Amino acid sequence: MTTKRTRTLTALSIAIAGAVSAGTATAAASPTTPESNDPAKVVVIGLDGTMLDHIKTANTPNLHRLMAEGTTGSSSILGHPTISGPSWSTMLTGVWNTKHGVQDNSFNGARFDQYPTAFTQIERADPALRTEAISTWGGIATIAGSGSPTADVVTTTPDAGSEGATDTATATAVANEIAGNGPDFVFTQLDQVDGAGHATGTLGPAYNLAIEAVDLEVGRIVAAVDERQRNTGERWTVLVTADHGHRPLGGHGGQTPAEASTFVIVRGGGYRAGGIDNGYTMADIAPTVLEILGVPRPANLDGTALAKDAPVPPPVAGGSTGAALPSWVPTGS
Ligand SMILES: [Zn+2]
Repeated sequence: MTTKRTRTLTALSIAIAGAVSAGTATAAASPTTPESNDPAKVVVIGLDGTMLDHIKTANTPNLHRLMAEGTTGSSSILGHPTISGPSWSTMLTGVWNTKHGVQDNSFNGARFDQYPTAFTQIERADPALRTEAISTWGGIATIAGSGSPTADVVTTTPDAGSEGATDTATATAVANEIAGNGPDFVFTQLDQVDGAGHATGTLGPAYNLAIEAVDLEVGRIVAAVDERQRNTGERWTVLVTADHGHRPLGGHGGQTPAEASTFVIVRGGGYRAGGIDNGYTMADIAPTVLEILGVPRPANLDGTALAKDAPVPPPVAGGSTGAALPSWVPTGS
């Protein structure tokens, strides 16, 4: 979704006192291997309208690395609107649209008071935790700025002239926040792949080229995570996900399998390298974030935290059949 561009900058209630408290200070002095009592942090990277099948076939070294180092799940949201507003709301609340009430990008009927976002739940559990939403599409700011309390930082990147340039500005802001402030939970959404899907569909070269461009932005964010983890001992989990797919000729909002396709990649936090999660649903993102941060999960969530014991497909001798090993899993040397 690309039309709304608002800039919201709420409550920089940054809880500086909390950030400078003992936990952070001692972690900074610890060596490079994270200890179990070092702070857990999580970044969720939302790739609007991006399909896993295309990530696998495009030149995406950064996303391929995350898949090799983490667990991947593909899923469908058939029965749920294949639209950004409802999908990001499902991910960020942990309940389906039948509960959170968002049916389209108007956000009319949203019930974030009844089904609060992960930002709200984290802030209620511990106001000293730093939560941020930094996105290209303004709808994310609507979600992250709803409820009470909201995320500590809610920004929509100003239009930089092209979707690619705006995504670069978004990713730069996220990388800078990770490097400088080490937020406990930062959510970001990048929009150019959805734009390419709308413009020319998924069959032509533009869609995969947009995925390759966004892969570079993912790489910059992950580099900031890895650098901070090395320097602080913080234990970071990276999640990558998408809100919907696209029809081959472009567009979404209907109930074809392509439009309803979604996925997750989760790296760090004890998730198995090369694992394949066959049970992932879109409603699992918020519960997973809450579990990582040790925040109690409300009983009324539809999703559950992602399983850490996802099976790892056995290697295929010679790679001749390709039956068991997905092509994107590195086969070694
Ligand atoms: Zn769209």
